[in-house]
Amino acid sequence: MQIINPATEELITEIQEDTKESVTIKFQQLKAAQDSWQEIPLKSRIDSLKNFSGLLEENKEELAGILTSEVGKPLQQSRNEINGARTRIEWLADNAVKYLSDEYMTNENELKEKISYEPLGIICNISAWNYPYLVGVNVFVPALLGGNAVMYKPSEHATLTGLQIATLLKRAGVPENIFHVAIGGGEIGKLLLELDFDGYFFTGSYETGKFIYEKCAQKMVPVQCELGGKDPLYVADDVSDIRSVAVATADGAFYNNGQSCCAVERIYVHEKIYDEYIERFTEEVSSWKLGLPTEEGIYLGPLARKEQLDILTKQIDDAVQKGASVLTGGHEADRNGYYFQPTVLVNVTHEMSVMKDESFGPVIGIMKVKNDEEAVERMQDTEYGLTASVYSNEQERAEKILRRINAGSGYWNCCDRVSAALPWSGRKHSGFGATLSHAGLRAFVKPKAWHLKG
Ligand code: NAD
Repeated sequence: MQIINPATEELITEIQEDTKESVTIKFQQLKAAQDSWQEIPLKSRIDSLKNFSGLLEENKEELAGILTSEVGKPLQQSRNEINGARTRIEWLADNAVKYLSDEYMTNENELKEKISYEPLGIICNISAWNYPYLVGVNVFVPALLGGNAVMYKPSEHATLTGLQIATLLKRAGVPENIFHVAIGGGEIGKLLLELDFDGYFFTGSYETGKFIYEKCAQKMVPVQCELGGKDPLYVADDVSDIRSVAVATADGAFYNNGQSCCAVERIYVHEKIYDEYIERFTEEVSSWKLGLPTEEGIYLGPLARKEQLDILTKQIDDAVQKGASVLTGGHEADRNGYYFQPTVLVNVTHEMSVMKDESFGPVIGIMKVKNDEEAVERMQDTEYGLTASVYSNEQERAEKILRRINAGSGYWNCCDRVSAALPWSGRKHSGFGATLSHAGLRAFVKPKAWHLKG
């Protein structure tokens, strides 16, 4: 398998993909070793994961360089991702005792009732490339804390990072054969679906998630899917500082080149402030530097995948043909590598693909709305349900709107953010199940009810 640098289109290295035989052997090794990991006291598992977090910090510059070389995100954003992953690991490790220890529900002389939390067993984690540390950590950290063994399949676009994760987990004290990496693309992912894992945890596109869910249904084991989004954001007419709202929301749409599951993908603006917002927003987008992700001060590197350049071009062509106007950008950048100009579209409608289908790139459609009611209608008009955001001076107004949106996360005066303390979950085509928070720690264990008399 060739690993290509998306910024230069140069070959970084070639790696041997797994085969049916090699993933089967890794699976059997996980199965043979899992019991011993489960038997280790929770405290020791917590220590190993905390060591892992420490190693991420110690090796941050090298790891950030590797991540940038294979996915193309600016070096500072790679560092930010590793810092963010550490925050999540710390929260999960610090809360593991609270949520994974036995709980006494009744504790009387003759009757004790308790719940214990047993590991699911061998977890299959098929993952995405856009934030390999963050979305990986969401799954394999609580899975390991809960006493499971893990087969981690990084995306074929983030293989080098996946291998680094395995090396550091071992150095951190996770024993041999408790964490394996399956190397390869969709075909290797499919092979994993043939094996008898005790739970499948997928992060990626709706199409692949649906395929995996259908394929695994017959296994009768837990399946979780964290999928894509078409996340809406509404700017109400009472915001006091339109410029700072424009700057913050532009970042929410374009950070990591818009390749975030919770990137802002559609913006609705109250008609009273629309003109000024558009002016400020476009000003901000035009001020960003696009270039080699290894250079300081670059906000936009290349996209991670070449195929996405065509998808974005088609979305923009479709929008323009149906009446949209391009305020800035609109096409690939004229240079080597998978670069696309940040693009702002106005006069958009919901007949256009750019307002319906996930763009997963530096393209945003902005639409004028008359009032909150129209904003809610537009925001709800989607097959997805990951996040939704409202900017307003009034919390009550924002919450009233967000309560009516069928999405897993609601943001008031912020967007494109994830907290380790809160459940991360999608609805509709954005998936189901939750990672992070107490719900995410408990997603990798099964409760056992104990009725103890005597
Ligand atoms: P993808 O669906 O193309 O691939 C995801 C993983 O699935 C990869 O490891 C891939 O090799 C594997 N795969 C592909 N086909 C498979 C098959 N038939 N059987 C088994 N495995 C298969 O997605 P991607 O391009 O890596 O990621 C981008 C998508 O992920 C976007 O839609 C994004 O919104 C979503 N995402 C969601 C979240 C979330 O938390 N909700 C987080 C990150 C990314």
